[in-house]
Amino acid sequence: MINNSDLIPIRKWFPSLFEKQTVIISGPCSAESEDQLLQTALAINKIGKIDILRAGIWKPRTRPDNFEGVGYKGLFWLEKVKEQTNLLTTVEVATPAHIEKCLKHNVDILWIGARTTSNPFSVQELAEALKGVDIPVLIKNPLNPDIGLWIGALERIYNAGIKKIAAIHRGFYPFEETSFRNIPKWEIPIELKTKFHKLSILCDPSHISGNTEYIYEIAQRALDLNMDGLMIETHINPKKAKSDASQQLTPDELENLFSKLKYRKSNSENSDFRNHLVQYREQIDSLDAQIIELLAQRMNIVEQIGKYKSQNNVAILQLKRWENILSTRIKHGLKLNLPKQFVKKLLQLIHKESITKQTEIMHKMNGKLSIN
Ligand code: PEP
Ligand code: MN
Repeated sequence: MINNSDLIPIRKWFPSLFEKQTVIISGPCSAESEDQLLQTALAINKIGKIDILRAGIWKPRTRPDNFEGVGYKGLFWLEKVKEQTNLLTTVEVATPAHIEKCLKHNVDILWIGARTTSNPFSVQELAEALKGVDIPVLIKNPLNPDIGLWIGALERIYNAGIKKIAAIHRGFYPFEETSFRNIPKWEIPIELKTKFHKLSILCDPSHISGNTEYIYEIAQRALDLNMDGLMIETHINPKKAKSDASQQLTPDELENLFSKLKYRKSNSENSDFRNHLVQYREQIDSLDAQIIELLAQRMNIVEQIGKYKSQNNVAILQLKRWENILSTRIKHGLKLNLPKQFVKKLLQLIHKESITKQTEIMHKMNGKLSIN
């Protein structure tokens, strides 16, 4: 179990990050050559907004014939970056041997990739290798939207004695049709933050987006949600990149991104703002209470319908009626600017509960199930 008060927020990890509202990590998907890495690092360092250089040295690739990283020698190049810039460095580790080499070559922060987080055996091996070591660890979400697996990885690293832990939201493998490479299910990092208030959560718009087109939109969304940092892939010549070519920004594009991004205050002391917010929240509280009461009324009617159907020996699911409910409510919602998918999901949830209720009633009336 993670004791929330033990966790050390990212802005307290190093003096150069001190009290930064948003910590920025950038750099190439993969270190490819000394020149490519140094040029990228120097160019992004000039922007003045980047705190940490990222570079994959060992790359987890889907297919064996893809570029699998330059390996060990990349760590020497990263040490040169540290001599020539003020940037901290972070590298993905997937095995205890990777950790050992990173520690030997003064990598400042380790990161655990999405594929590794998905595998508790691997995370446990990394945790064993980290026992007694004081190095910060970033943990990306697992490929599937399984918050338990993500928490499990955080716990394993925490149990190894690491208190400088942060999570990275990099989206989830999409089974649905989507324009993103990985779907940002924002509710999952929000739930994680609700469970662990002191856990810093960063966002990786590059791996969510999969191409440069949506990076601004996703990064801004992360700032709007008051996330603690961003990890954005940048390459001196993205077209030539050996991995993730379509999602890497040039240093100029990165600079341009920062000129557009709006940082939000986490709160405001302004009393006018506070008074207005209180008023809005009162409206929301009142509307939520009404929604709950209406749902209770609806369920009462559902109960009566259940009894009535049962007495008349009629099946619970009436497909035509359900289709009609869906289409009329969606149309109504669209007129009021409610997105189709939102209304559909809400109705599906309500309908599922209605079916459950009616099934219970039918079983009870048939004496098959006793309900307290
Ligand atoms: C990466 O950051 O380059 C990477 C491999 O990311 P992920 O683990 O999120 O797929
Ligand atoms: Mn990548």
